[in-house]
Amino acid sequence: MNKYINELRKRIALKTAVRSVKIPPTVKQVSFTFDDVPESAFVNAQPILERYGYRGTFYVALSFLDTDKTNINLYHKNHLSACLDNGHELGCHTYSHNRTYQNSKADFLTNDIHKNTVKLNETGIKYKFQNFSYPFGEQTIKMRTIAAKRFESSRGTDHGINKQHIDLNNLKAVKLYQNEHPLDKILSILDQLNSSGGWLIFYTHDVQTEFSKFGCSVEYFEAIVQKCKALNIEVKTVKQAVDELKRLT
Ligand SMILES: [Zn+2]
Repeated sequence: MNKYINELRKRIALKTAVRSVKIPPTVKQVSFTFDDVPESAFVNAQPILERYGYRGTFYVALSFLDTDKTNINLYHKNHLSACLDNGHELGCHTYSHNRTYQNSKADFLTNDIHKNTVKLNETGIKYKFQNFSYPFGEQTIKMRTIAAKRFESSRGTDHGINKQHIDLNNLKAVKLYQNEHPLDKILSILDQLNSSGGWLIFYTHDVQTEFSKFGCSVEYFEAIVQKCKALNIEVKTVKQAVDELKRLT
């Protein structure tokens, strides 16, 4: 019942704070993004991207700094600084990673987003997040309104390639959850992008041998990166993609 109500809330919310942009037909690009972010994404996936000359977007929730969650080691400060030093992007994923459907008070959400930057700066890293991903993809009217004012873009979890008229406040994405999306399926989505264009945003969590149901193996991840190279598809951080979209539209 709750699930149904929340889905209905989201559908209504998606009609507000819409930031409509038209993707030019010439755009054909991929972004690799990571949520939370487990240490293995920095340690295993980041170097793979770099080996192919690519950069990614890591949406961090600073409450996970120096912690572990459901037996997945999360990151440390050195992962964040190395990530930035190597030209990747850090995105905001709120501070506490709460369920927005359970706590959608405007003050809480505004503070929670602000706190993520404050906590990042407290580590000694001076950086301003420009792009956002909704924890659990949950979107309410208040959350969408706050995100639209504060960020250049916000990524949700609705499946698909961003094409034609898109909502910068609810970018679609395709999960790299290996148990749910076998490699063949992802490679065929890349073929589809190659033939009809658009902006394909991948997202995952851990990238390691014993991957969780929200993650994938190193081999799976590299096969996808390799396919982008083979198809000669541009790979951009979300920031690069949004900045360019703004220039083109
Ligand atoms: Zn998350």
